[in-house]
Amino acid sequence: MKNKLGVLFAAFEAVPFIKTGGLGDVAGSLPPALQAAGYEVRVMLPKFSAIPEQYRTRMTHVADFQMPLAWRNLYCGIEQLVYNGVTWYFIDNEYYFRRERAYGYFDDGERIAFFSKAVVESLQYLPDFRCDILHCNDWHTALSPIFLREFYRGQPVYDRVKTVLTVHNLKFQGQMSDFVLGDILGFSSDSGAGQSLRSDSSSINFMKGGLLYSDALTTVSPTYAQEIKTPYFGERLEGIFQWREGSLRGILNGIDTTAYDPAGDKALPARYSPADLGGKAVCKAAVQKELGLREDPDAPLVIMIGRLTEQKGLDLLRWGLEELLARGIQLAVLGTGDEAYEQMLVGYALASSGRMSAQVRFDDALARRMYAGADLLLMPSRFEPCGLTQMIAMRYGTLPVVRETGGLKDSVLPYERWGEDATGFSFPDYDARQMTDTVLRAAELYRTRPEVFRKLRKNAMTQDFSWNSAAQRYGELYASLCPEAASS
Ligand code: ADP
Repeated sequence: MKNKLGVLFAAFEAVPFIKTGGLGDVAGSLPPALQAAGYEVRVMLPKFSAIPEQYRTRMTHVADFQMPLAWRNLYCGIEQLVYNGVTWYFIDNEYYFRRERAYGYFDDGERIAFFSKAVVESLQYLPDFRCDILHCNDWHTALSPIFLREFYRGQPVYDRVKTVLTVHNLKFQGQMSDFVLGDILGFSSDSGAGQSLRSDSSSINFMKGGLLYSDALTTVSPTYAQEIKTPYFGERLEGIFQWREGSLRGILNGIDTTAYDPAGDKALPARYSPADLGGKAVCKAAVQKELGLREDPDAPLVIMIGRLTEQKGLDLLRWGLEELLARGIQLAVLGTGDEAYEQMLVGYALASSGRMSAQVRFDDALARRMYAGADLLLMPSRFEPCGLTQMIAMRYGTLPVVRETGGLKDSVLPYERWGEDATGFSFPDYDARQMTDTVLRAAELYRTRPEVFRKLRKNAMTQDFSWNSAAQRYGELYASLCPEAASS
């Protein structure tokens, strides 16, 4: 019989409480899947004032205490809420978390250090919970394994804990100026922690320290786990991944297949399923109208949804965009990010006479209507640790056109190789010509062989993108770290 391993999952964002991107989706849906797989899972998040009132008012007080952070002594509260079968803890400190957004403040380093330490300090205040695994995510909680080993050693409640750090995106590492080490984290320069955190003579790097201190490392797709050992993808930390490759696993994310389901999605004007795709045409006409595009069922509708940054291949799009529009393709983009890209897209859309739309905002319901109404989703990423957008698109029968990198390579079966068993289209190099040609080939298939295109849509919609297999693989990892606790 399986003894329930206790897993504390720490993250800086999670659906439905607060979301800025893929990490929010993962932290919202992996913990319930782990709980369903037989683990005792708790999740810890900051208590942001941006968390909707409906959740904030239901939170109950668990504990509060004063916590040292270098020379500071700070109030820290723990509140709790049971949601989706999982107990969620919220770290309360109004000074740090009473803000509109999760990130983007001058003192993010301090706020994140506070949260990372509070995660560890809290372990002694959680009733009815024994933590075997502390599962941290990205640089926002990469300090927790360091605090755990440096400040809490010798106490049974802490010594039993094994740590896992999952890298969702290596681009963001928490690079801070030197003074943070002593003044905020409370480590001296010549300590083990100080040396592990140091990245150069004038700065420290939260992620680097976490990668060195955690018992196990994971990233969010098998291909990205290989890629980050190379200089092109490793963001100057490739040496650590090479050195720690025996402790590094790539586990492909899933998506919440209940929340993303065209047969039940209330945001859509019509519902549909693989067995009856009829409603998808209704969704296409509606979204064309909503976005000011020509209501033409024959025009292949290509969408892009996500952060408008260099990572997402916006430079390739800039190069290929005019040709795509000239060849009768409709393009709709939803996203926010670098101002230069936002302006470029809005400019093209204004001049496109109903062939292109650019929506510069975060809008979950519109994203769903676009996933449902589109024919193709373009994702020409320079790198992509996992990518959820392409999986959501497939779930809605919208075929992804992706560059073969990271999780895009691991989740899309390209027509070029799989023929009628495919679930999308792909191209190998970060090359605008390859991208444009691949979109044009996909559009050609849409126009000239609708029965094949429909078959591909059904293939995509019936892929298993649920969290079940990821939960099983994380479970295997946890069990390998705590063999005594995991066995009967
Ligand atoms: P990231 O690199 O940002 O984590 P992912 O593909 O992993 O990218 O996840 C992006 C998630 O955020 C998807 O659920 C996508 O639908 C959503 N998303 C991104 N930008 C927007 C936006 N502007 N409006 C609505 N949803 C968005």
